[in-house]
Parts: sequence; structure tokens; C-alpha cells
Amino acid sequence: MMERRQPIPVEEAVKRVIQYKKHGKVEWVPLKDSLDRFIAKDILADHDVPAFDRSPYDGFALRAEDTKEASSDHPIEFEVIDHIGAGIVSSKTIGPFQAIRIMTGAKIPAGANVVIMIELTKTFEKDGKSFMSLKRPLQEGDNISRQGEETVKGRVMVKKGTKVTPGVIAILATFGYAVVPVVKKPVVGVMSTGTELLQVSDTMVDGKIRNSNLSMVYAQVLQAGGEPLDLGGVSDDFDQSFKAVKAAVSKVDVLITTGGVSVGDFDFLPAIYQKLGAEVLFNKVAMRPGSVTTVAVLPNGQLLFGLSGNPAACFVGFELFVKPIILSWCLKDSPFPSFAEATLTHDFPKANPFTRFVRAKLQFEGSHLRATPTGLDKSSAVTSIADANCFIVLPRGTRGFQAGDQVNVLLFQDEGGGSKCWMTN
Ligand code: AMP
Ligand code: MG
Repeated sequence: MMERRQPIPVEEAVKRVIQYKKHGKVEWVPLKDSLDRFIAKDILADHDVPAFDRSPYDGFALRAEDTKEASSDHPIEFEVIDHIGAGIVSSKTIGPFQAIRIMTGAKIPAGANVVIMIELTKTFEKDGKSFMSLKRPLQEGDNISRQGEETVKGRVMVKKGTKVTPGVIAILATFGYAVVPVVKKPVVGVMSTGTELLQVSDTMVDGKIRNSNLSMVYAQVLQAGGEPLDLGGVSDDFDQSFKAVKAAVSKVDVLITTGGVSVGDFDFLPAIYQKLGAEVLFNKVAMRPGSVTTVAVLPNGQLLFGLSGNPAACFVGFELFVKPIILSWCLKDSPFPSFAEATLTHDFPKANPFTRFVRAKLQFEGSHLRATPTGLDKSSAVTSIADANCFIVLPRGTRGFQAGDQVNVLLFQDEGGGSKCWMTN
């Protein structure tokens, strides 16, 4: 007798999976290799920035009190007693009516309490000595970048769980992180099932298709921050599939299979989970595409994702269920996607008995976000994924939607949103 499956809401399925999240360990990598990795320990400032009072301009450092009487009819002259560039510390102390020529980034010399820009001064020589004159009074502290004005020693500069971007690299470099504590990536095995599958390099054979899921999911794992392990494909043979899955679990932190989770005659994953003693968290989700998505957990807490073989469903299943697990592993405290509101550009007449995730392109038109479905909306479609940068989320129980309607969109290209809870920004 065919097994009856009870569909559960998407939110419930997401919650069941995230209960089994784990956190990755720390590994140290050279700064240049840290791009796109996730920070594993809070990064602290090891010094104030600036580390000393410094000049933000090319100019002259002097004492504000000596400029009090300056005006356009009454320029005041200063003897220039030293000349320093960035990185040089003057050994001289400025006295009354003395100045030091100072370049951007150089430390303010002892005795000085103000800097005047070079453009506002006149320089000249007298009796073999250098002088500078100015025509305006200055306030103490003018044009000085104060020690610690940007940040102070000990402050958390980058929180753990942050993805390393070029801007984060600048912080790491500033604070002396030649090697960076990042999260060791989860090894995510990717295996496809299906007797119909050809390798990418194979020529086409009647009745067969090339295996696109394996490469697509491999790339999704990589993009999400995991370490994909290509486990190849198995044909629809129970013993072969069981052996392959059993061997795979010991090599990976998380296992993804595609295909074989339906109720067809050759869909062996449910029986494999049973034989492995895995607990099935769900085997039917009230969503389209991907209602057959099945997730099981081994007694050791290891997650087994059985994604649909249909390419679009497989893609959606990964983004909804696998990605938050990878991001949680990478210590992201908001591993769920961000959502936005957009205007639908085309009619979408299909009713939605289940929550529907329509692959779509989100674009700004002026200040308005507009979402356009990217092509054939069938779970078997493979070509409409490429142009998509979001899913339009049509709630279950709704009828068709029309152009101009406001819809929610899920931004799957974001790595984690600001929310702690799925779909509540
Ligand atoms: P299944 O989930 O195994 O019932 O497969 C559903 C549909 O997806 C079938 O039409 C398969 O041919 C197709 N399919 C399964 N695996 C893949 C794959 N790795 N790449 C592309 N299409 C696939
Ligand atoms: Mg199959």
C-alpha cells in the first residue's frame, strides 16, 4: 500500500531542521585566504585608532595661543623649526611663535595644539631661517585627529559569525591579524541518485538526462560557505544506494542527496533512512516546488537532506533547509534569509494550495522593487534558475495573483538576514 504523507508548513519544517544545528570549530588561516570565510572569534582592537594625535592635513603644527592677534592686516610669523612626514616623530618641542611643517598622518609634535593647512599660510626665508605666516586666529584642537577618535583598544571590531569582506580584511590588517580565526567549514557531501543520469561530459543518450543537480548543489554549498564533497551519482538500485549513503555519512558533516525521495517505484531514500536508523523529521512539506523534500537525522545528530530530483525543487530545498544549517555552523546568529516586499510585474494565475516559491528577478524601478518570474514555473525546469535572484513567496491558500499586487520575496542571494526567525523580519 502506498504510504500516506502528511504535509507540514514550511515554517515548521525549517524549525524542525534548525534544532539540529551545530557550530563549527576554529581554524587559523592567513589573512589573504580569509575572504568570504566566517570569523570564529570576536576581533578586538589591539590599539587605539588613531594610535596617537595626528595631522589630517599637510600643514604646520603650532600653538593656538600664538595666533590670537592674527588678521588679514596683521599676519603673524612663525619660525619653522622642523619638517616631518608621516611615520616620523619630531624630537623638537614647539615654543612660542614656532611651527613644525607636518604632513598628513604625522604625529603632532610636543608643544603643538593645532594644525593649519598649508594652503592658508605663506612661507619665506629670513636670515637663513625658514618662516611661515598666517592671517587668522585658530582654536586649540583645530585640525587634529585625536588618539582613539575612531576606536579604542579592546573594543570588539568584528563579531564572530561575520563574513569576511574586503572591509573586514582592512580591520584585520589594522589590528595585526596576520592569521585569522575562521570557522572550519562543514563538509557537505553531495550525491545524486537516478539511473537516468549522465555525467556532464557524456554525449546525450536516448531517455537519459545530464546530471545538473550534482554540480548545482555543489556550487550552492560552496556559495553558502560549506566545503562540498562530490560523492558522484548512484543509480536507482537499493543495495548500491544504501552502501553509497552508508559510506558517505562517515566522510561528511552533512549529507545531501538529490532524487529518490518521492513515492515512486525507484525512490529508495525513505527505505535507506529507515535501514540506517535515522529519524525522519518530515517527508512532505506544504510547498511548491519541493513538496517531497525529506530530512532525516541519524542517532548521532547528523543531518541527511533528501532533496527532490527536480532541479528547481532541489534548488529551493537547498536554500530553505540546508543553507541555514551551513550558516549556523559558521556561527551566523541570523541564518535565515531576508525578505522584502515587491510589486509583481506579471499575472500569476495559478492557485496556491501549498506555499509557492516562484523563481524571480528582483529589480529596482526608481525606488520601487519589482519582481518578475524568470521562466517556466515547473519544478522540473532547469533553465529558469539562472536568472533568478529571489523567490516570490505566495502563501498557501491563496488564489492567483495579478500584475501590480504586492508580494513577499525571499532574497536567497543574501547570506543570512537580520532576523532570528524565518519569515519575520
Ligand atoms: P526524482 O526526485 O528522483 O523522482 O526525480 C525527479 C525528476 O528530476 C526526474 O525527472 C529526474 O529525471 C530529475 N532528476 C533527478 N535527479 C536529477 C539530477 N541530478 N539532475 C537533473 N535532473 C534530475
Ligand atoms: Mg529518481
